[in-house]
Amino acid sequence: MHELAITQSLVKIALSKAEEAGALRIRKINLKIGRLTGYVPEAVEMNFEMMTPGTRAEGAELDIQWVPIRCRCRDCGAEYQSDELDLTCPRCGILSGQIIDGREMFIDSIEIDN
Ligand SMILES: [Zn+2]
Repeated sequence: MHELAITQSLVKIALSKAEEAGALRIRKINLKIGRLTGYVPEAVEMNFEMMTPGTRAEGAELDIQWVPIRCRCRDCGAEYQSDELDLTCPRCGILSGQIIDGREMFIDSIEIDN
């Protein structure tokens, strides 16, 4: 259940941002999750609902978007996207891709009520 820890930090960041902005309530959190993280969105949502009652984030909507895996070829420098973990370069056909995106989870934006 590694989703528990990341949801905890997600809630913490969202709440401190809301406080900074003087918001009464968080309406929506736009979240980006890299395909490579392996996080299960339902688990993040479930943890989120468990952690937020009584806080400014109670009842907030989570909008989760997947960030595709992005690679750069070590050989020819081409950058390409992949939905799966296929690191073969489409230009030269060699398996020499280096992952440059898709491993992270971050808050894209937060919608608040003042
Ligand atoms: Zn290449």
